[in-house]
Amino acid sequence: MSIHDDVEVVLLDTETVASRVRALGAELTADFGERDPVLVSVLKGSLVFLADLIRAMEMPVSIDLMEVSSYGAGTESSGQVRILKDLSGPIEGRHVVVVEDIIDTGLTLNYLLKYLADKGPASISIVCLLDKPARRLAEIPIGYTGFSIPDRFVVGYGLDYDERYRNLPYVGVLKPSVYGGAPPEG
Ligand code: 5GP
Repeated sequence: MSIHDDVEVVLLDTETVASRVRALGAELTADFGERDPVLVSVLKGSLVFLADLIRAMEMPVSIDLMEVSSYGAGTESSGQVRILKDLSGPIEGRHVVVVEDIIDTGLTLNYLLKYLADKGPASISIVCLLDKPARRLAEIPIGYTGFSIPDRFVVGYGLDYDERYRNLPYVGVLKPSVYGGAPPEG
């Protein structure tokens, strides 16, 4: 029994993801080469993307990690998020690049952007691997996008279902039998 057996369809295969991440790294290197940016990533889904992205950036970078959670089911549309792990260093005067795995409604990031802006960075840019524009509720100025994908619940390359499947090297959709019903929202 392998985790691959639970995958119904591979949306973005390993090499497709890898080459797009390399291209994003090259773009960021060209745009931020002299500016010593701090990459702020949101645990846990962005971990794999961040790890590959920084190795595709041929320049000095620092990283910082945050962890957030929505205020529980039903209140998601409020966009209120709880910060479980805050930045470990100051970002005042720094060029911040937020590294996100996936932007869906945009509410989480909308909150986070205000939170980061209050700390007085020189600039904030966003790089996201996957953009699901179909369900967007908050307008997000995404500077760098890996792929725009349809409104399906995806796993792999850091993204989970019930904390599993983050270690799939590609992005895919699970078989309905895995959920035992309708796929999760979001
Ligand atoms: P938003 O606030 O943009 O609706 O939610 C963003 C978060 O929802 C992502 O960081 C991710 O944790 C989760 N999410 C949204 N869509 C998906 C998806 O298709 N698959 C998985 N695994 N998580 C998703």
